[in-house]
Amino acid sequence: MQILVNSPSFVGASSGHWQELLRTAIRDPIRLLEAVGVSPAAVSLVESTDFPTFAPLPFVERMERGNPDDPLLRQVLPQRCESEPATGFVADPVAEHHAFRTPGLLQKYPGRVLLITTGACAINCRYCFRRNFPYESAPKSLDQWLEGLKEIADDSSISEVILSGGDPLVLVDDRLRALAAQLHHIRHVERLRIHTRLPIVIPQRVTRELVELLQDFSRPVAIVLHSNHPRELDDHVRLACSNLRSAGNVTLLNQAVLLRGVNDRLDTLRQHSERLFECGVLPYYLHQLDRVSGSQHFEVPQAEGLQLVEQLRNSLPGYLVPRYVQEIPERLAKTILL
Ligand SMILES: *Cc1c(COP(=O)(O)O)cnc(C)c1O
Ligand code: SF4
Repeated sequence: MQILVNSPSFVGASSGHWQELLRTAIRDPIRLLEAVGVSPAAVSLVESTDFPTFAPLPFVERMERGNPDDPLLRQVLPQRCESEPATGFVADPVAEHHAFRTPGLLQKYPGRVLLITTGACAINCRYCFRRNFPYESAPKSLDQWLEGLKEIADDSSISEVILSGGDPLVLVDDRLRALAAQLHHIRHVERLRIHTRLPIVIPQRVTRELVELLQDFSRPVAIVLHSNHPRELDDHVRLACSNLRSAGNVTLLNQAVLLRGVNDRLDTLRQHSERLFECGVLPYYLHQLDRVSGSQHFEVPQAEGLQLVEQLRNSLPGYLVPRYVQEIPERLAKTILL
């Protein structure tokens, strides 16, 4: 154990704290508008939706008061245009349902599998391509993961397991520890990867226990965060990132989605990359929006995206330019657009 993880700098006082912050998340669009001082008359809300509002307070606190177009608010506010039909926008744009090896174990790309560890998220992003995912059927506990774990153990071509969801860090530390221990038993799993937005949304999630269990995994761990805008990366997030890295075997990466009205400007993208690096995080992917129904107001045409990334390349060091990618069904890797 490194001493660093015992430093007093953990933002979350106890593991119960982040769970309390999930419980007290805002689940009503009108309350959300009240919290940020925006009049309901200034926006046009969707009348009904199967994808509820969910926004924890630490994330809401980073929104600009009185601004109906705030880029953080826009990511979570259910707007009327979600319910308008749009051609080409469908329920399962990346055709994931074809790729399941066992319930909850997805494989699209050689060498790595994606384990759906929970259907829950710490935030509901309106542009999410999994917003219609049949999570009810996803395994949620160790005995339900056993089939997937056995599949991994029996296939030595799998060198990397990606914990995804939903958000795997919604699981409490004991569950995660048990899962990591099972994966650690499988020799050919050389790397663990965790796809999570939780350290961004609720940085208090990065508890000492979490850092210790990552460290105990004792093989390289990649944590791929999901942040879209520099203002998401406040000093609490920076501290949470620094604590994650203190495990010693953890590399932090970020994936973002190119979103109209959120990060579709050169300045924003540049500041985002720079701020990520200040937090010890390298930009990994910038995703072209997957065309899930209800997300049409977020789409930035690919031609415009290409132009933005080209300009970004001309203004930042190469390691701060994310790869602009798109998920195209049936391919063996994500398609690099630039
Ligand atoms: C994106 C994705 C991965 C990871 O791909 P990388 O290019 O290695 O980041 C793995 N499995 C699935 C199903 C994915 O969608
Ligand atoms: S955190 Fe990720 S999986 Fe969850 S709603 Fe947002 S984009 Fe979707």
